[in-house]
Amino acid sequence: VKHSGKNHYMYFQQEMIEVLKEKVEIERRLTEALAEDGFRLVYQPQVESASGNIVGFEALLRLKGIAILPDRFIPVAEETGQIIPIGRWVAGETIRQMASWRDQGLPLKPVAINLSSKQLSDEGLHGYLQQKLLEKKIPAEYLEVEITESVLLEESADTTTFLNRLREIGIRIALDDFGTGYSSLIYLTYLPIQKIKLDKTLSDRFLKDESVEVMNSIITLGHSLHMEITAEGVEELEQYRKLKKSGCDFMQGYLFSRPLPAEEVTPIYNSRLIS
Ligand code: C2E
Ligand code: CA
Ligand code: CA
Ligand code: CA
Repeated sequence: VKHSGKNHYMYFQQEMIEVLKEKVEIERRLTEALAEDGFRLVYQPQVESASGNIVGFEALLRLKGIAILPDRFIPVAEETGQIIPIGRWVAGETIRQMASWRDQGLPLKPVAINLSSKQLSDEGLHGYLQQKLLEKKIPAEYLEVEITESVLLEESADTTTFLNRLREIGIRIALDDFGTGYSSLIYLTYLPIQKIKLDKTLSDRFLKDESVEVMNSIITLGHSLHMEITAEGVEELEQYRKLKKSGCDFMQGYLFSRPLPAEEVTPIYNSRLIS
């Protein structure tokens, strides 16, 4: 079918309207979720490569009763600024859950939350985290924040200050999605980073014997800078074996466990997920 220029334009305009409508709809649902306790967290176990034991978790955000995933609603929340109160809710809920597990007699384990670049403008975030940790008597080193490289590309002076302030409190910092985008190794030398999380794409290439030198170099470099290395998106046993052999410290992925609601984590909290 041939379209005239005018039809193309009308089609384009209609697409724009659809995209906009969807954004408005997501924004509405986020507003509702903020007001009516409509968010929940799922926790994905992280295992120690050497033992297969669960040594920590990553908290991931979900909307109650709606199958819209964060890859769709986080960008909207960033655009509207809703990410600021949402991000605080995620942090507060994570700390509350850590205290709840501890109060059930389980040992504290580190839990990571994701911070998006927009949250770096949340001036009060440090104080908020510090107060929540104090309130629930959780030592700060059990809270980890994950930031992506894109955060580091934005405004370097402010970012460094922001991260240094988190470190001063005792919160640990992980560099997320490493190996995507513009990996600059320079960041690793001047930012207060304790952990590198290798992106799924890198773990996948490694399985196919691609990027083997890159992987080994990152692991060696990370270790020489006293950083821990976590591989993400590990789905296959062979991947686990190879990454373990290469000296990767921790792993996370469907091979071990999907992200789970807190009540499903409790019974497996101290488990070994692979051997
Ligand atoms: P991410 O931080 O890189 O999180 C890892 C994502 O990979 C999660 O998707 C997780 O469910 C998924 N995943 C874990 N293991 C596997 C695997 O073996 N195979 C595959 N294919 N996927 C795996 P999820 O939960 O949909 O989150 C997507 C992204 O949304 C996250 O990527 C993160 O960037 C963002 N996000 C999630 N929760 C939050 C939050 O509370 N705050 C902020 N700012 N961003 C969040
Ligand atoms: Ca993450
Ligand atoms: Ca990631
Ligand atoms: Ca990601």
